Amino acid sequence: KANERESMYLVSEYAQEFFSKKLWESETGKAIALSYFKERGFNEETIRHFGLGYSPDQWDAFTKAALAKGYQLDYLEKTGLTIVKEDPSQPDSKKTFDRFKGRVMFPIHSMSGRVLGFGGRILANNVKAAKYLNSPESDIYHKSKVLYGIHFAKQAIAKEDNCYLVEGYTDVIQMYQRGIHNVVASSGTALTPEQIRLINRLTQNITVLFDGDPAGLRASLRGIDLILEQGMNVKVCLFPEGEDPDSFAKANSYEEVILYLESNARDFIQFKTSLLAEDAARDPVKRAETIRDIVNSIAKIPDRIKKEVYIQECARIMNISEAVLFNTLAQVDKKNY
Ligand code: ATP
Ligand code: MN
Ligand code: MN
Ligand code: MN
Repeated sequence: KANERESMYLVSEYAQEFFSKKLWESETGKAIALSYFKERGFNEETIRHFGLGYSPDQWDAFTKAALAKGYQLDYLEKTGLTIVKEDPSQPDSKKTFDRFKGRVMFPIHSMSGRVLGFGGRILANNVKAAKYLNSPESDIYHKSKVLYGIHFAKQAIAKEDNCYLVEGYTDVIQMYQRGIHNVVASSGTALTPEQIRLINRLTQNITVLFDGDPAGLRASLRGIDLILEQGMNVKVCLFPEGEDPDSFAKANSYEEVILYLESNARDFIQFKTSLLAEDAARDPVKRAETIRDIVNSIAKIPDRIKKEVYIQECARIMNISEAVLFNTLAQVDKKNY
């Protein structure tokens, strides 16, 4: 099993080299993919640093090249780089396709820097296909245990004693290029306890940066309770409508980005309380629900003193007595134990 995983790492690392070679050396790669990255504002140093690449727009360019190099089809399939299909009319003939055909490629690294999988983005924005495609789960790629960028961010996270958590690959890359290196992405999936534990090894402080598209915001609040449960300090920061950390860092200087983050990052519980308090302002039933919801978040915090401080803070924002909140907290605690 260990040998199999090693073979999968080797295939993935070969793929990373192949995609990167196509980006820098092939005519189409240079013409459409390298120029795409440059239009997004990534410089050559950044593109190399993150090992970005291009998967040619052909059915099996990568698969053919890998087979010719002696990599076994079995591992190409296990990593999901190659899709193998049986032709029903000819039971013994298999067809092979490159999963990431025609996409720009973002290799996903482990904490120690091995290639585990890829994210691939289509070049055109208006096509029906999914904007991003990711490697499937495999023996080396477990989505729930991986954070994009962690290998490049780990030192800075420890040094700054804070980790910025963003939504996407390009947010990590653009922030990094701007000089903010303590950034990782959950890449579209809801945050998991394993991902939080990865960060928790490096710092107790997380700042979650949300895209300025309010649709997903309320849904994401749930995931953050998981961070509280692990005893970490959580701040959140919203970007202006229509912006994400990528577009914001592209358009602003290092000092401006830092200033924005520092003046807009708010304590999570305070933030959630104000947000929900607004929602519930005129509706007593909703108000009761909201109080329960917030107390549920507070109940996740392991530290007793912090808990109390938050109860006081929440009482102030919601304009109710602390006694009621402590009561609710006691009920929630009872239910949890
Ligand atoms: P871009 O700036 O390249 O358009 P983004 O990173 O801003 O992309 P968002 O739409 O904000 O993309 O989504 C955040 C993250 O969610 C993406 O980086 C990607 O990891 C994931 N994601 C987005 N769309 C899809 C999709 N259609 N399928 C799978 N994952 C996706
Ligand atoms: Mn988004
Ligand atoms: Mn985004
Ligand atoms: Mn974006």
